[in-house]
Amino acid sequence: MHWFRWAIVAGLIVNAPGLDRVTAQRPPGAGAVTLYEGARLITGDGNAPIENAGFLVERGRFVQVGRRGAIQAPRGAARVDLSGKTVIPALVDAHSHIGYMKNLTSGAENYTRENILDHMRRFAYYGVGASQAMGSDFGEMPFVLRDDILAGKYPDAARFLTAGRGLAPLSEISPDNMRQAAFAVTTVSGARAAVQELVPRKVKLLKTWVDDRGGSIEPLAPELYRAIIDEAHRSNLRVAVHATGLQQAKELLRANIDVFAHAISEVDAELLTLFKQHPKTAVLSALGGPHRAVYAPWLNPVHPLIAETVRPEQIARLQSRFPLKASALAPSQESWDRLARGIAQLHAAGVPIGVGTDGGGQQGDQFIGWTMHTELENMVMAGIPPAQVLVAATRTSAEILGQDDLGMVAAGKSADFVVLDANPLENITNTRRISRVFLRGVEIDRTKLRAGFMSGGTANK
Ligand SMILES: [Zn+2]
Repeated sequence: MHWFRWAIVAGLIVNAPGLDRVTAQRPPGAGAVTLYEGARLITGDGNAPIENAGFLVERGRFVQVGRRGAIQAPRGAARVDLSGKTVIPALVDAHSHIGYMKNLTSGAENYTRENILDHMRRFAYYGVGASQAMGSDFGEMPFVLRDDILAGKYPDAARFLTAGRGLAPLSEISPDNMRQAAFAVTTVSGARAAVQELVPRKVKLLKTWVDDRGGSIEPLAPELYRAIIDEAHRSNLRVAVHATGLQQAKELLRANIDVFAHAISEVDAELLTLFKQHPKTAVLSALGGPHRAVYAPWLNPVHPLIAETVRPEQIARLQSRFPLKASALAPSQESWDRLARGIAQLHAAGVPIGVGTDGGGQQGDQFIGWTMHTELENMVMAGIPPAQVLVAATRTSAEILGQDDLGMVAAGKSADFVVLDANPLENITNTRRISRVFLRGVEIDRTKLRAGFMSGGTANK
């Protein structure tokens, strides 16, 4: 054998004892057994992180998680050194609108399989492993795509979860808004029939709206939302509602609502009592709208993560909207203060809080994926400790969406995790310092994705 071939074989033996040559050359992937060592590990359970951790991934799942050295790696396992890094579970955005936004336009005309896939790749790029579209999907295509992604057909795409078509009163539905997708609910029998259309499509959490939009429209009548909730529960579905008014929130709790898709605009003692009587009812944060109006330091100068995925004209449009004029600033500040106080009170009272961002919404500027990172900062600024905010964005959001194998770094769960260059417990904005993203045990190629986003290949055109 030629001398350099000897050197290669000798090098393998010296540097990686116990590794057979085939495994050592194979990159960590779905079929491999890989031991990740040395990181600070935040598992998603809210406990103190495991310093110098180890975890073993096999066939896309975590199989052992613990301290480095305590993991029994089989002979032939590949090893990845993550010393100096922090690992968190992939984030879960429980409220978004997927497939509508495309550069400077936002509308049903952009709603294609290709555009949804582009959005799910953007989520993946940002370390978000799953996101649920809240009632703006329509047709059969989203269910097929959801199942294709779940089956592993697109390894670089986050899981696309869908509430299917939402259920809305006529007053909410217009060709110009995303409720164009919704079932128009006008009768009890119609409400029940709409729920039944979602059952065979395996929707777990459906979406409805109960909002008078500042007194401008007639909201969904109580007998109609009660019928929706009752019919859903009979069929083992759960119901998420867009409802921000205090009185409506109370009535919805009495009607056994499962999830509030937004923070409630005001919290009082009676509301807290009703939540205590309904301990499983969860609230998604969605603090981004009011907060962005008064706090968006990541826009000027634009944060590098945004610049990597969003085209300059879209960034410029958003920059041109802020800062607000003083007259508009005061009400925004007031509504942020109230929302922040309310979400902190609900959290302190033990209400399950998940993270929903309303990303991809109709303004056209709720950049897909990025909104998750600002939402985490919003929650910390509202007074929820970073460790609890990370639980909300991982384990709790996954539970709310009925995704039992997501949201934690724990044996048996899907190996969806994010490697960070800095510790988000010290500063929550460190979730933006993404080094690597793994979905189903496979590292996604962020460099390739980025090139696609900016060229318009798989991305905005
Ligand atoms: Zn929404």
